[in-house]
Amino acid sequence: MPYAYDDTNIFARILRGEIPNKTLVESAHTLVFHDIRPQAPVHVLVIPKGRYVDFAHFAAEASAEEIADFHRTAARACALLGVAPGDGGAGFRGISNAGDNGHQEVPHYHLHILAGRPLGPMLSHG
Ligand code: 5GP
Repeated sequence: MPYAYDDTNIFARILRGEIPNKTLVESAHTLVFHDIRPQAPVHVLVIPKGRYVDFAHFAAEASAEEIADFHRTAARACALLGVAPGDGGAGFRGISNAGDNGHQEVPHYHLHILAGRPLGPMLSHG
């Protein structure tokens, strides 16, 4: 089944400039901005500017240029935030939720980058 992208989702509205955001860094195909409800001292969202619902959609259908730009811009964000271990940072966690079981709230592909404190095990159980 083809992916159905909802143009009314909140990140589409941010990309159209209808809703303000606190941008960290932007490139030709990618925007990185601070999460409105941070779950850690550092919490940013990396989103493609294209209309992709989730990771699988983006990975399957985005161009090589978009995919490279997304990851390079995410790396740039990590550098700007000072969280990348390769740059002497204390580390971070990248998370991408998808669908109902993944508890995805916004149906536009995004990578959460969380950092600024020890984040514990990947999943809490229960
Ligand atoms: P998901 O649950 O889809 O993986 O994550 C969606 C994230 O988007 C949540 O962490 C939520 O706080 C964030 N978010 C929702 N609405 C807005 C908004 O209007 N602005 C910003 N900056 N973040 C938002």
